[in-house]
Amino acid sequence: MVVTVAIVGRPNVGKSTLFNRLVGRRAAIVDSEPGVTRDRREGVARLGPLRFRVWDTAGFETAAPTSLRGRMRAQTERAAAEADVALLLIDARAGVTPLDEQFAGLLRKRTTPLILVANKCEGGAAEAGRLDAFSLGLGAAVPISAEHGEGLELLYEALEVYAGDDDAASAGGADPVIDLAVIGRPNVGKSTLVNRLVGEDRALTAPEPGTTRDAIAVEWTVEGQRYRLTDTAGLRRKSRVDEDLERLSASDSRRALALAEVTLLVIDAQQGLEKQDLALARLCTEEGRAPVVVANKWDLVEDPARARRRIADRLRRSLPQVKGIRVVTLSALHGAGVAALPPAINAVHALWNRRIDTAPLNQWLGEAEARHPPPLVRGRRIRLKYVTQAKARPPTFALFVSRPGGLPDSYVRFLENDLRKRFALPGVPIRIVLRKGRNPYAGG
Ligand code: GDP
Repeated sequence: MVVTVAIVGRPNVGKSTLFNRLVGRRAAIVDSEPGVTRDRREGVARLGPLRFRVWDTAGFETAAPTSLRGRMRAQTERAAAEADVALLLIDARAGVTPLDEQFAGLLRKRTTPLILVANKCEGGAAEAGRLDAFSLGLGAAVPISAEHGEGLELLYEALEVYAGDDDAASAGGADPVIDLAVIGRPNVGKSTLVNRLVGEDRALTAPEPGTTRDAIAVEWTVEGQRYRLTDTAGLRRKSRVDEDLERLSASDSRRALALAEVTLLVIDAQQGLEKQDLALARLCTEEGRAPVVVANKWDLVEDPARARRRIADRLRRSLPQVKGIRVVTLSALHGAGVAALPPAINAVHALWNRRIDTAPLNQWLGEAEARHPPPLVRGRRIRLKYVTQAKARPPTFALFVSRPGGLPDSYVRFLENDLRKRFALPGVPIRIVLRKGRNPYAGG
């Protein structure tokens, strides 16, 4: 599960600056459709090894002053209710203002964990304002400067307990929500599929002011498993004729992938896997996401056996690095086959989260090396010393060898495939990272 952090506080304390600092140049998820009131921005934040979803609640500040208080209050309460953690920002240079006190009051009543952040503390300035913040009764404020990028390591420490890194999230065991992305060329049936999965039209109908949240993310449950889909706005957008379709779908896809765990790559089964579909599949595996290919419009396919074979052949030939990608054939429009999708998602998600013990891994390594020794490089054989799983999501293995630079790619691919077979990891990206040296855990 990806944790959601809301940035709240009165106008001009630096919420958007902090948002931009955390999200960086990665595109924020902002709906560009005219007529849509957007009162919060959403983005994917990275802070050291942490990855989380972040909301900026600054948008309402452009509202007419008369309605400002009310909207601000509503917006803040909603953000705090829906987020996992709230960052309450104050301007340390201005000190604590009555409005800050109101915000603190609103948030103190909530059970959402709250971190008080004193912004504009660059160069150790505004110490008085930071100490002043104790009066809010929320403990010590984390001093940062969003604009100058200072104090971010302190913010990291404060958030770490809630956000965790990708790996900590998996180690935490039960994962209550599976984050999905739905990608594919225009008109393959993505919106139809999402409406079918969510079960009602609420997700993708044109949003009215005040329903912006639904336009961004939807959640639904099948047999006790929750699924979440972010950025449905990107799905809803219909391309204009003069837009570069290829570029449009690639940038939308990259944005959707950033938050996803499992990616549904929707294709039109009548057309099979085309060049652009394969490019999206590659993008997905390069980003380390777990793919499921959804062959949609199956109702229109005349020779199902042949169509299935063609898709499987194409995947095998064009994506040899990820063997065994799952394909679900269905009709989003009529519903046939849709029931098979959630179990496929769950299975791929579980593989993507897999952890393999070090002992069986090293036993496998010894056997693989004996069966197929690494090639001689300038007369010397490269020694494979030790392997351990460095992280999950996707499964990533550190392989210690005598000369990492000397091991040919083809041999690393052999190991990947062999490992995939031996430990039954079909259809998810696997990474082997080469490291120099001996077993680092052998001691001494
Ligand atoms: P998107 O651009 O990928 O979101 O595609 P849409 O969901 O808007 O669908 C494009 C067209 O394909 C629409 O006319 C849908 O009714 C149609 N469509 C979607 N799924 C199916 C399906 O399973 N079977 C058939 N026959 N048509 C479908």
